[in-house]
Amino acid sequence: MSDAYLGIDLGGTKMEAVLTDSMMRPLLRRRIPTEAEGGYEHIAGRIAGLVSMMSKESGVPLPRVIGIGTPGRYEPVSGRIRNSNTLSLNGRDLKCDLEKLLGRDVVIENDANCFALAESMLGAGREIVRERGGTAFGMILGTGVGGGIVCGGRMLHGAHGIAGEWGHNELLPDGEPCYCGKRGCVETVISGPALERYYCSLTGSSRTLREIAGMADRDEAAEATLGRLTVQFSRALGPVLNILDPDCCIIGGGVGAIGRLYSQETVALIERYLFSARLMIPLLKPQLGDSAGVFGAALLTVKH
Ligand SMILES: [Zn+2]
Repeated sequence: MSDAYLGIDLGGTKMEAVLTDSMMRPLLRRRIPTEAEGGYEHIAGRIAGLVSMMSKESGVPLPRVIGIGTPGRYEPVSGRIRNSNTLSLNGRDLKCDLEKLLGRDVVIENDANCFALAESMLGAGREIVRERGGTAFGMILGTGVGGGIVCGGRMLHGAHGIAGEWGHNELLPDGEPCYCGKRGCVETVISGPALERYYCSLTGSSRTLREIAGMADRDEAAEATLGRLTVQFSRALGPVLNILDPDCCIIGGGVGAIGRLYSQETVALIERYLFSARLMIPLLKPQLGDSAGVFGAALLTVKH
């Protein structure tokens, strides 16, 4: 019996694996190109190659279960992947195919859930979730908007596999169309590209969100864009907090790096939409950086 954990972060351009000991300390990490252009079978073969590399190079018996995190949505009932930006994965039963190929059990979750799990157990929420058994709402606020819920160390999947997916709640009725088929989703308002489009609509010039955030003190349109972020973020988050009432929120992704989201001004805005008078929980910056995905994937395999 192996007491190691193996996780794979499957991205569109690269895939990374980590093998950890029972305390989640890394024994070996490896990263290879995904070569997504080669198609579905090729990607599955690359994953198998990476697993075999981890086995050979570590000299450690690999665990019976392998965790995989990937963008998109994993449907627990059909076993299919949906909405992945690696298009060849969509509609495929990656779990079943990999289990045949690897001769091991495979657990798949989307990248936002892996982020929430890793930051809750090993990163920003460690003390609150891992040590005190609390609940965390971990969100990714970047190119897309997603989220995951971790209660006392366990990932909440939900009946449809969509628990925590606040990015597709309606925020602006009759707003911009979203790739999901609805309109005015949170993602179409406060994702990085949505905020950049908003700035461009005010000024006619294209700037990255990082540039916009850096010039808010001297550029009215940049200030208006950050104002839109904090107001709409608060409107979107309030109802989530009213239902879930977590012990902390962890805000990942490129938009999550904007300092104003953690300010007293934003807290006051959130309180407008909160059933309780005061927001008593911390809004936390992530601590694991790029490592959250791969460690989250490994944590998927930890038995409770
Ligand atoms: Zn949507």
